[in-house]
Amino acid sequence: MKLCRFGQNRVGLVTGGEVCDVTAALAALPPVSYPFPPGDLLIANLEILKPALLQEARRGERHSIEDVTLLSPVANPNKIIAAPINYQSHIDHDVKGKDIAYGHEVTSITRAGLFLKANSSLVGPGQGVRIAFEGRRNDHELELAVIIGRTGKDIGERQALSYVAGYAIGLDMTVRGPEDRSFRKSADSYSVLGPYLVTADEIADPDDLDMELSVNGETRQTTNTRELVLGVARLISWASSVYTLYPGDVFYTGTPAGVGQVDPGDRIDARIEQIGSMRVMVRA
Ligand code: MN
Repeated sequence: MKLCRFGQNRVGLVTGGEVCDVTAALAALPPVSYPFPPGDLLIANLEILKPALLQEARRGERHSIEDVTLLSPVANPNKIIAAPINYQSHIDHDVKGKDIAYGHEVTSITRAGLFLKANSSLVGPGQGVRIAFEGRRNDHELELAVIIGRTGKDIGERQALSYVAGYAIGLDMTVRGPEDRSFRKSADSYSVLGPYLVTADEIADPDDLDMELSVNGETRQTTNTRELVLGVARLISWASSVYTLYPGDVFYTGTPAGVGQVDPGDRIDARIEQIGSMRVMVRA
């Protein structure tokens, strides 16, 4: 199942090039009251909601996916976790450069640890990226994004993938400079997630997916997720030893070689095998 959010907070199922509006199925969500449970209510109840979603898909209004504004498929994450320096190619070709490292120690992910991005930075591809640090080097980072489906703590590596609701394409937008990662990567629109969430049952092996990104038609990043230093299961297990994971948590798994600058007016096209592709415009 491919689940998207679009337009004015509509929920859609994607088949082929079409989005079917299944927002009416949200009536089947359990009622909640203050204090709200941590995480995303829709992602937390995806399995329960599935019959209602499929039911609505038979009668919901249909749109061409080209005609809708795609929002982040996750509306209310409890947190956005991200993995730094998780492809050797990125370490070898990118981060040792002075323009990227800025004196930050480049070691290994196991020494660097994970980091968090502000939830308010999350947008969908249709909303685009707004450059927040004008006149500085603002980079694209193409990443496989993992969306957590259920609450977990101290998750073993062998069980880790059973905690995944689905996958999406992530752009971990970044300004280069001396500041802390959480500052440089958390401006509004600096976490792009899209084009939709592909449920985990459709992805046989998240550690074997081709992906690529181009800017204005010029290829910048290509890799396969088998090149991840720490694979998806290991990342989830490690993160859960520190943070309780909640449904709707988004995990940016790291970027390969080829990160580069984008400026207002640029067009980013990103694709991950078995997920799909998305276009993201950069604006001032
Ligand atoms: Mn990154």
